Amino acid sequence: AEQDLGVCYYDDKLAAEFARRQDIENALAMIAASQSDDGLYLHYQPVLDLKTGRICAFEALTRLHSDLLGHISPAEFIPIAEEAKLILPIGRKIVSQALHFLKRLHDSGFESVSVLINISIIQLIDNEFSRNLFQVIRDVRVNPESIGLEITESVFAADFDRINRILGVLDRAGLHVSIDDFGTGYSSLSREQELNVKSLKIDKSFIDGIMQTDPDMTVIADIIAMAHKFNHIIIAEGVEHEKQLRYLRDCGCDWIQGYLVSKPLDENAALEFLARY
Ligand code: C2E
Ligand code: MG
Ligand code: MG
Repeated sequence: AEQDLGVCYYDDKLAAEFARRQDIENALAMIAASQSDDGLYLHYQPVLDLKTGRICAFEALTRLHSDLLGHISPAEFIPIAEEAKLILPIGRKIVSQALHFLKRLHDSGFESVSVLINISIIQLIDNEFSRNLFQVIRDVRVNPESIGLEITESVFAADFDRINRILGVLDRAGLHVSIDDFGTGYSSLSREQELNVKSLKIDKSFIDGIMQTDPDMTVIADIIAMAHKFNHIIIAEGVEHEKQLRYLRDCGCDWIQGYLVSKPLDENAALEFLARY
């Protein structure tokens, strides 16, 4: 009987997980089908240029709120959106919101500040992606050179040549493509060199490592030195402590991002932050 209870509990847990997943998918499908973006919005995390001491960009991080489930982390809902193929319509809404924020930044006098948008590989390889993006750029009237796209290292596992052709089109249009979470997966610096990207964002796990008593500091220093040889900009994410900032500055890291500078902010708070910085 005890075993039965165990099985029963396990089934309940699975059923609950499945139901939550279905609820999230439904919430996303509802947003995808509606004119409004109700419940889907962006927060913006400042990126600090260590050379100038100025904020040079904001990363757009998507938030989902549903009446039924409350706040849901993008780490949970983005994979669901990808599997349900809802990432295409949801991604278009994200791009549109981010470019309207960029327009607002520039209209407020912050012309040198960029917006960085996370893009799933599924979006990138969609035939409509670039055309759609260029259309929104024209409609909202923003400078493509102020737009960054962050893609994850999974590009290295996918159809490399096809993806690199798409990245080449975006690069020639002036967009700033960056490899996110660098160092966690399939990346290799030699392949990175062949890729049409402008920057590398070193994964937080390496930045965390700086705080260890005997950190393997050489890894970060080597990544930065190599990437600079390819003329790539280096961004460090998840910087929380002064010690990490000092070390990254000593290694010649270009940009940093993390709670030490600021948490992700809503639109108004992001503009206030810029005005104060
Ligand atoms: P990411 O692009 O690597 O973003 C960094 C994540 O680390 C964000 O979590 C950010 O809030 C968090 N973070 C920033 N600074 C710190 C720090 O100092 N300490 C700690 N502990 N965390 C920090 P978030 O917003 O939950 O996003 C998680 C992931 O979800 C993102 O990782 C990205 O892969 C994905 N994501 C978010 N928005 C989008 C989107 O619009 N499209 C796509 N495709 N993916 C998105
Ligand atoms: Mg990112
Ligand atoms: Mg990352």
